[in-house]
Amino acid sequence: MIIDFRSDTVTKPTPAMKEAMMNAPVGDDVFGEDPSINELQNLAAEMFGMEAALFCPSGTMTNQIAIKCHTQPGDEVICDENAHVYQYEGGGIAFNSGASVKLLPGDLGRITAGQVLSVINPDDVHRAHSSLVCLENTSNRGGGSCYDYEEIKRIQKVCKDNNLKFHLDGARLFNALVLKNETPKQYGELFDSISICLSKSLGCPVGSLLLGKKDFIKKAKRVRKVFGGGMRQAGFLAAAGMYALKNNINRLSEDHAHARQIAEAISKKVFVKKILPVETNIIIFELNDSVSAPALVTKLKEHNILGYAISSSRVRLVIHLDISKEMVDKTITTFKTL
Ligand SMILES: *Cc1c(COP(=O)(O)O)cnc(C)c1O
Repeated sequence: MIIDFRSDTVTKPTPAMKEAMMNAPVGDDVFGEDPSINELQNLAAEMFGMEAALFCPSGTMTNQIAIKCHTQPGDEVICDENAHVYQYEGGGIAFNSGASVKLLPGDLGRITAGQVLSVINPDDVHRAHSSLVCLENTSNRGGGSCYDYEEIKRIQKVCKDNNLKFHLDGARLFNALVLKNETPKQYGELFDSISICLSKSLGCPVGSLLLGKKDFIKKAKRVRKVFGGGMRQAGFLAAAGMYALKNNINRLSEDHAHARQIAEAISKKVFVKKILPVETNIIIFELNDSVSAPALVTKLKEHNILGYAISSSRVRLVIHLDISKEMVDKTITTFKTL
């Protein structure tokens, strides 16, 4: 038995999800003729109370399309220094949009309205035009941390008052919603665009959705084609997405409980210097000088437990729907022996 905590992207479709995929009606989505994709897009837009949605191959693409649509070359994007859009999308903000980035030192990936306000450039020809704020909820590098909704509202007000667009990288937004007992509509109300991943904790093989107003999604569809993300009979993938939105959201609390149980065992180890607060399905812990992160990952692998060294001293474990209670128990037992 291999216990794979490297990411929540490693999940395989369940028999019920595969069944939904196999039976999906499909058509050419570049022509807008795939009934399953249209249904998924409508379902997601309705869930968030937003006008429209666009199915894309990845969360990198949904984020990058949003940034492209909200900015002009030379503009500045404001985000946390650990944001996925900056750290893990291959320099895409510069490559795709020709925009620069203002990085803020947040608290576990979360920035504040005050911080945003303090870095908006004045209307001065010497300065880059601040045009977009990106938030990430939950924050990946923040260890799955969640925003306080009231703070998001304050940031939205700063954006509105200063004419900035507001994008949410919600790759794991549903983890935050389940934890905080919030609704997608509360988020749909505040953001100009939202990206959600179906391929992360929701357990789909492929796919992300971008949500926004009708004219924004029309523009986004054009950019998706330019980026090479126009797919044809991709309704098989959309059917998995629909299945996940209907069946795999409420169960996320199980992943969160599993994460807390494992984290508790890890926090007792003498070689662990610090563990980030575990709010959702991500555990990030820092090791003291006695062992490096890659060395611990190798050690865990000998016990068939796979983790990910995100730096020389930090290890990340991600819980997901292919992690059973039995696997959690075995992981806890293994940590006790290390
Ligand atoms: C995984 C992830 C994405 C998108 O990643 P893809 O692998 O391109 O789907 C975006 N933002 C965050 C925070 C993520 O964790």
